Amino acid sequence: MLLCDFHIHTTYSDGSVNLRRTVDLFGQAGFDVIAITDHVVNGDNTMGRLAHKLKFSVREDNFDEYMGRIRQEAERAWDKYGLLIIPGVEISKNHLSADKSAHFILLDIKEFIPACWDYKRIFTEAKEQDALIIACHPHHMSDLSRDTLFLWNNRERYAKYIDAWEIANRDDVFNVISLKKYPYIANSDFHKVRHIYSWKTLLNCEKKIEPVKQCIRHNKGVAITLFRR
Ligand code: ZN
Ligand code: ZN
Repeated sequence: MLLCDFHIHTTYSDGSVNLRRTVDLFGQAGFDVIAITDHVVNGDNTMGRLAHKLKFSVREDNFDEYMGRIRQEAERAWDKYGLLIIPGVEISKNHLSADKSAHFILLDIKEFIPACWDYKRIFTEAKEQDALIIACHPHHMSDLSRDTLFLWNNRERYAKYIDAWEIANRDDVFNVISLKKYPYIANSDFHKVRHIYSWKTLLNCEKKIEPVKQCIRHNKGVAITLFRR
């Protein structure tokens, strides 16, 4: 099975490891598939504006550079490690209240999508681009200050748009996802080197972007594993 991690940040947002070093880290650790998913933060409130000021967000004006660098690294990673890299972003709707906040990955995104658009508009545009929508850390976390509960609390309205939910994020496991029988994957939410040791996804499919997306969508041949030292 393919060892995968679909939730990874670099210095393009608030990660502490640059893109090239991140790729080498996962390549040397023997991973088969990773997604680079830096934050795209909403700029329409004080929290969002601060994230932009601190350069903790990919922006419309550096999105092409971000994608270009990921494409370059994808070529290098494939030749050097046989590691498949999928470009993505983590749309981050940050509000003071956890009930209003939501984070979700757009996997295999092609064009920039602003995080301040409403949910339906973002989801519709992501589908147009044939990107997968993955709800991130959807329930209470061990670090309550990171809670983002909007999608879970509004699942009756939005679950139809979501291709998979994180059943595990780094050290946290969300059993509510299995209770609802939603499609699931598990990711590290990598920001620091030590986060490589965390929950991961195993996929039983070919090591190419389309089969990987299909495998997540249909959620057959998917397993999770705790990757440890
Ligand atoms: Zn997040
Ligand atoms: Zn994240």
